[in-house]
Amino acid sequence: MQTTTDFTQTSWINIPENSDFPIYNLPLGIIKYKNGKTAVATAIGDYTLDLAALHKLGFLKDLSLPENIFESRYLNDFIALGKPIWHSLRNRLMWLLNINTVELKENKQAREACLHKMNEVDMSMPIRVGDYTDFYSSKEHATNVGSMFRDLKNALLPNWLHLPVGYHGRSSSIIVSGQNFHRPKGQITPPGVDIPSFSPSKAMDFELEMGFIIGKQTELGQSVSTKEAADYIFGMTLFNDWSARDIQRWEYVPLGPFLAKNFASTTSPWIVSLEALDPFRTKAPAQEPEVLPYLKRANENTAIDITLEVWLQIENSEPVKISTSNYKYLYWTMEQQLAHHTINGCNINVGDLMASGTISGPTPDSFGSMLEITWNGKNPIKLPNGEERKFLQDGDTVIIKGYAQNEKGRIGFGEARAKVLPAL
Ligand code: CA
Repeated sequence: MQTTTDFTQTSWINIPENSDFPIYNLPLGIIKYKNGKTAVATAIGDYTLDLAALHKLGFLKDLSLPENIFESRYLNDFIALGKPIWHSLRNRLMWLLNINTVELKENKQAREACLHKMNEVDMSMPIRVGDYTDFYSSKEHATNVGSMFRDLKNALLPNWLHLPVGYHGRSSSIIVSGQNFHRPKGQITPPGVDIPSFSPSKAMDFELEMGFIIGKQTELGQSVSTKEAADYIFGMTLFNDWSARDIQRWEYVPLGPFLAKNFASTTSPWIVSLEALDPFRTKAPAQEPEVLPYLKRANENTAIDITLEVWLQIENSEPVKISTSNYKYLYWTMEQQLAHHTINGCNINVGDLMASGTISGPTPDSFGSMLEITWNGKNPIKLPNGEERKFLQDGDTVIIKGYAQNEKGRIGFGEARAKVLPAL
C-alpha cells in the first residue's frame, strides 16, 4: 500500500520529543470525563482531542458522519462506517491540527471544549470486543516453551510451521490499561504431583503481545485472503495476555488454555491505525517449509517494525525494563493469521480482537514472558533493590510499551499497564 504519511508536517500543539502521539499518528480511543460521560477521542502530544465536541462544533461537517457517532461508549459504530471514512477523518484531523491551519488553533472557546490534558481524563475500554482469538505465532516463543516442557529437538509440534496455531479466548475479561485485577485461584499441582489442590496461582506471568481489531465484517462461509486482509483490520493495540502457569500446566491438555488465561487480559487504550503504521512495514521472517497457497504472503513487507518493551514495577520502586522485543519477529503475520482464521468460512465481526501470541525475540533480553526470561524459575530476575522474581507477586505492576520508528519519524502506542492484586 502506498503510504499517505507526511512526516514533515508539524502541529500548532507542542509535541514533546519522542512523544507517542505526533500529528501523523492520531490513534482513536474512548475518553471518560469525571462526570462519567464518554467520547471518542484522538491523542496529540500530551492532549486528547474530544471528537464528539469537535463534531458538535461543526469541524467535521461534510465528512458524512452520523450526528452522534462520537458520543459513544465504544469505537465499534464508528469503525463500522468503513475504511474510506476512517481515512477522511484522519485527513481532516491532520489538517485541523496542522501548524498552518487556524480554524481550531485560533478559536479559544472551541479549543477549551475539545482539547484536554491527558491527565485530566480517564481512558475507557476502546472496543466492545466481540470474539477474541489468541494466536501462538512467535517461533522463538513456541520453541522456548516447547523445549522447556518437551525437548529442544521436538520443541515445535508438527503443525506449527504449517499453520498459525490459535485458540478462541474470552472477551468479557479484557480490560483497559490502568485497571488492576486479582490474582486468580484454581487447581494447581506441583511438578510431579497428580492430585490437585485449590490455591491462588503461585506462577503468575505476563505475555507480551499485540492485538489487531477487525474493522469489516464477513458473511458466514466467506474467506479473507492474505492480500485482502489489511482491508479488514482497523488498527492495533498493545496486549498483555496474563497467564497463570500452574493452572495452565494442569488444565491445558487436551483442549488448550481455559481458566489460566480468561481471568484478565489488558489492552492499551489507543488504537493505532494500519494507515499510520504503514510506513513502518518491513520484511517478515522467511518461511521454511513453504506454506500452502492460501497462507502465502501477498508481498514481502508484511511485518511491521514495532519495538516492544516490558517494564516491571514492584511496590515503592521505579519501573525496570525487563525485555525489549519487536513485532517484526513474528513468524506468522496478521494477514496470514486472518486468512487462516477465515479459510474454513468462519465469519468475523467489527470489534473482534485477535492477539498475536507472545512475541519473543532471539535473545533472553527479548523474551516475552517471565516463564522464558527466568527459564521456568531457574534464573530469577534480579531487581535493583535486591529483590528477585521468578513469577509475579501481589503488588507487582507490568507495563508494556511500544513504538515504531524510522529515520523520518516515530509513533507510539502509549502503554498497557496493570497491577496484580492479592487473590480475593
Ligand atoms: Ca497468549
